[in-house]
Amino acid sequence: MYEHHVTENGIVIVGGGLAGARTAEQLRRSEYTGPITIVSDEVHLPYDRPPLSKEVLRKEVDDVALKPREWYDDNDITLRLGSAATGLDTAAQTVTLADGSVLGYDELVIATGLVPRRIPALPDLDGIRVLRSFDESMALREHASAAQRAVVIGAGFIGCEVAASMRTLGVHVVLVEPQPTPLAAVLGEQIGALVARLHRDEGVDVRLGVGVTEVRGEGHVDTVVLTDGTELPADLVVIGIGSRPATEWLEGSGIDVDNGVVCDEAGRTSAPKVWALGDVASWRDATGHQARVEHWSNVADQARVVVPAMLGRDVPTNPVVPYFWSDQYDVKIQCLGEPEATDTVHLVEDDGRKFLAYYERDGVLVGVVGGGMPGKVMKVRAKIASAAPIAEVLG
Ligand SMILES: Cc1cc2nc3c(=O)[nH]c(=O)nc-3n(C[C@H](O)[C@H](O)[C@H](O)COP(=O)(O)OP(=O)(O)OC[C@H]3O[C@@H](n4cnc5c(N)ncnc54)[C@H](O)[C@@H]3O)c2cc1C
Repeated sequence: MYEHHVTENGIVIVGGGLAGARTAEQLRRSEYTGPITIVSDEVHLPYDRPPLSKEVLRKEVDDVALKPREWYDDNDITLRLGSAATGLDTAAQTVTLADGSVLGYDELVIATGLVPRRIPALPDLDGIRVLRSFDESMALREHASAAQRAVVIGAGFIGCEVAASMRTLGVHVVLVEPQPTPLAAVLGEQIGALVARLHRDEGVDVRLGVGVTEVRGEGHVDTVVLTDGTELPADLVVIGIGSRPATEWLEGSGIDVDNGVVCDEAGRTSAPKVWALGDVASWRDATGHQARVEHWSNVADQARVVVPAMLGRDVPTNPVVPYFWSDQYDVKIQCLGEPEATDTVHLVEDDGRKFLAYYERDGVLVGVVGGGMPGKVMKVRAKIASAAPIAEVLG
């Protein structure tokens, strides 16, 4: 069995987001009494990101801290905020920070999340924004309150939520997506079309199957040019084309990185005493594939595995049914299980706005996606967990 030895260095967690906070919480809950240090490049206390594209953007919420500062004091957790980790030496068991300080560790947890992708060819103009952090959300909402016309590039979850929140603020929004529907890669085109319908009903100008060739302006953005030649006036452009794992600081460390930090099914990386979880981590799944998940619930699911593994204790083996949600207007889109765009989709309810769909692969129920149907989504959890035949749920 894995042996965990505590020294004065204790456990160092790099990344002060949800994964960092959940790991620290789980360690104390597991009665680990050694030192815990959370290192974050942000100056804020660890906070929650889902509200950034929803309530924060709509000016309904300002405080998204996961725990108050006293919680860290009470639990004897040291916060090193505003100091990025810049290097890792796995032989010496040290992490170097941007301010030059060097932290030794008994165990290291990598929880650095993602960096939003930008479009390198775009000119450097005011009014072009991405959304990942609290500061970016506050700056975007400031900008959105003065904006007349926004173009959102990319209809993934963040693009769709930003479009919905800005529409609610009264901004004219064009949502541009090269795929045939929003969310096509995740939920498939059939359900993607229902999401497009929802946005159109709310007055969003949804442009599908087109990309962006150029963004123009002098100092400040004023026009977005699409691949079909359309010129859209815009005083705000939000890029929502996905994110990449924040792993630059691991260069030269020897840690295996391939679309995220490569981990086994308990979060062990390629180096001893180094673990990873959350959006940055690519865990081996039950089928032996590496998978990186960018959803909130997955973080706590992984913390409940990585912490006992790190402490040399028994790891829970009961399978978790993956879950995520997205709020767009008054419709909560929820997904349970692991639907894929290539699955057969059975649309079992659709009232023109709300919907429920079962996803089938090889005759088995692999997932459910609902829009505004929370009870009905949750009701099939056990059927997904037991890989029920689709005929059983279609009844
Ligand atoms: C706008 C938005 C809305 C979302 N909405 C939903 C939703 O509705 N439903 C859902 O299921 N999921 C949602 N998510 C996803 C969910 O928030 C993430 O899965 C979750 O935040 C992942 O947590 P994490 O700790 O792995 O990464 P993060 O929360 O990104 O935290 C990583 C932290 O590490 C810091 N860091 C990075 N590099 C370094 C370094 N070198 N040194 C020190 N610190 C560093 C980062 O600045 C950051 O603070 C949303 C995400 C965003 C951005």
